[in-house]
Amino acid sequence: MSSKEPELTPQKENFFWPNKMGRMLLLALEDVMGRNGVNATLNLAGLGHLVNNYPPNDLELGFKFDELSAIMQALEDMYGPRGGRGLAVRAGRAGFKYALKDFGSLLGMADLAFRLLPLGMKLKIGLNAMADTFNNFTDQRVRVQEEIDRFIYIIDRCPVCWGRHSKVPCCHAALGLLQETLSWISSGKDFDIQEVSCIAVGDETCTFHINKRPFN
Ligand SMILES: [Zn+2]
Repeated sequence: MSSKEPELTPQKENFFWPNKMGRMLLLALEDVMGRNGVNATLNLAGLGHLVNNYPPNDLELGFKFDELSAIMQALEDMYGPRGGRGLAVRAGRAGFKYALKDFGSLLGMADLAFRLLPLGMKLKIGLNAMADTFNNFTDQRVRVQEEIDRFIYIIDRCPVCWGRHSKVPCCHAALGLLQETLSWISSGKDFDIQEVSCIAVGDETCTFHINKRPFN
């Protein structure tokens, strides 16, 4: 060790998604805002190295939480809180089809036996399968609790708002993914899903309340 080296400040801990999921996120964003929009977002987010150079389609943990959160921040910076929120929710929804293709069969959610279960059971199994997928393949940490009228989807370590500060809950992409997952599970029903706490606001967890009874 050279004594000339400046003293390093302790490195902020890094957490990751697999490359494949980062790739899915960018493809989903492309579905809602086009390639040019994604490139502009990546440039603003300081992620120029990803422009026309998405992460490879593998399970290696190479997509950093702060890359993901920088993209979400850039959406808000470019389009305002409202516009950014809309795009993030839609990207989360669009991401579901990529996730289903790569992870769905593994969860048994595409099986006929699953389709035939009662709705409440399907929602419970689906939400837990989603949590398991994140817990098994990523550094994101998720758990699901159940009350009489609702499910509570809790993200203990959240890439969407990683390192961000916000006045209001801002994990909109996670909300969109939840919406689309539950819509698919229920053959097209819509559920009231609210992010009631968020680490970026100063809360312990990013927490979503999901009303068990669909709107339609
Ligand atoms: Zn969050």
